[in-house]
Amino acid sequence: MTVPATAIAPLDSLPCYTSALKAIEALKPTEPLYLLHPEKFAAQAKIFLEGFPGEILYAAKSNPHPYALELLWNAGIRHFDTASLGEIEGVKTALPDAICHFMAPVRLPGQAKAALEQHGVKDFVVDTDSELDKLLAEVGDAKKIRVFVRLVASLGGALLEMSSKYGCRPEEAAKLLKRVQASGAQPCLTFHVGSQCLSPFSYAQAIEIANRTVGLAGVPIRALDIGGGFPIAYSGQEPPPYHWYFDMIKEAFANMDAKDVPVMCEPGRALCAPGISLVTQVVLRRGDRLYLNDGIYGSFDEQRFASFDEDYPPSAITLDAKGKAKIPGGELLPFRAFGPTCDSADKLPRSLMLPDGINTGDFILFGAMGAYTVSSRSNFNGYYPDNWAVIVA
Ligand SMILES: *Cc1c(COP(=O)(O)O)cnc(C)c1O
Repeated sequence: MTVPATAIAPLDSLPCYTSALKAIEALKPTEPLYLLHPEKFAAQAKIFLEGFPGEILYAAKSNPHPYALELLWNAGIRHFDTASLGEIEGVKTALPDAICHFMAPVRLPGQAKAALEQHGVKDFVVDTDSELDKLLAEVGDAKKIRVFVRLVASLGGALLEMSSKYGCRPEEAAKLLKRVQASGAQPCLTFHVGSQCLSPFSYAQAIEIANRTVGLAGVPIRALDIGGGFPIAYSGQEPPPYHWYFDMIKEAFANMDAKDVPVMCEPGRALCAPGISLVTQVVLRRGDRLYLNDGIYGSFDEQRFASFDEDYPPSAITLDAKGKAKIPGGELLPFRAFGPTCDSADKLPRSLMLPDGINTGDFILFGAMGAYTVSSRSNFNGYYPDNWAVIVA
């Protein structure tokens, strides 16, 4: 992906409005416009900081934009789950005092060494012998680091699974834990139940697998990191409340044989999704087709995944003759939505229910657009959404 090298305007220099409607009235944006909602970042962070019984690491890959990082920092998030040297550098540039953890099980040669020496990173993940060899060779003195062995956790509760690429079974994990212990590094365990995990029970099951793995290894673990996966409410689905997750997780911790193991979690989506909404313009309406100025290669990348069957909640907005924003009239009908690139695949997978009065030049506001949107946009065909404003109620 080539990202146009434009300087990023400071957060406090962005235009600021009291509502999305006011922003649309003022800017009449013909390009996609991201709206930041600082109080939503703060609210999500608070839920985790107050509800989860351990350290919160924000998974930077869900949205590594400096605005998201700064708003989460302002909300009290101090730890960051990063997966590459580039991501660590991005976080440390935006937030020099951030504490980064290198939680990818497969790293490019030299990146562990650079992360430790240049950025003081002390936590690493492995799921195979050769990556452990490489890690130990790079860090020199193993006593300086914690090594998290990544377990497979394919428990079926999540819309996007995270265990077919990384992770190992308990028997292999037990062997790796013994090797980590023997190296002098601190042995720890981690897993990821999958993203947008709608079942709190998946976490309890995975913690039980971790507990059994510790038993198999006969090695005391020094930390347990339960990964990310916490869901948010998109259109058409109301996930279980977060406290169900936290209660189940606490109960599972209490049932572990080893007591008082320090715990961590790595929410990405749950911390950043609600804090950004997106204004798109209808470039053309043709019957039941709407051609938008943003699509699959821009902010809607995650819609490519067939198993991710959720929609960012859409609302239609039109400007009346006096330039006032209002909802177009007419009954709700299903519209097919297409992105701006010339690729036929650039269309949203499901119809959007919008008022029949919607027309060329009107706007669609999509909510909960903070996660896996900004982070994975490309400039395919010359379209790169990158306009920002702040909404303060
Ligand atoms: C992507 C990822 C996360 C964040 O997952 P969410 O579903 O966004 O919470 C956390 N940990 C690791 C290792 C990841 O790869």
